[in-house]
Amino acid sequence: MGRIFLEHINGTQKLYNCAQCDTNLTNKSQLISTRFTGSTGRAYLFKRVVNLTFSNVQDRVMLTGRHMVRDVMCKNCKTKLGWMYELAVEESQRYKEGRIILEHALITESEGMGELRPRNYEEN
Ligand SMILES: [Zn+2]
Repeated sequence: MGRIFLEHINGTQKLYNCAQCDTNLTNKSQLISTRFTGSTGRAYLFKRVVNLTFSNVQDRVMLTGRHMVRDVMCKNCKTKLGWMYELAVEESQRYKEGRIILEHALITESEGMGELRPRNYEEN
């Protein structure tokens, strides 16, 4: 909590960014499931996402039962991107606690720039 600086999840993995401002949010190694549905259609469940701000906790009844959730917004441009599961009432849904949903329509995918392409240094 209270981090001000924008973070970047590095690696050779595919990156997921805010579609509005291109801020990096997470990468493929954090992806848990692509089989979720948000208000805009397909949505992804992630283990860890950076550069977000969170709304207050809301009590919401979803297809899979009652959950306490927070809306998540891009820290840079404030666009609402999805939500975070704060608490699940149903035992079978507990695995989602602390996990984050990003709506597919609101994020973009890009290839990660990692160690695969070593930089060439020119030295005198
Ligand atoms: Zn953004």
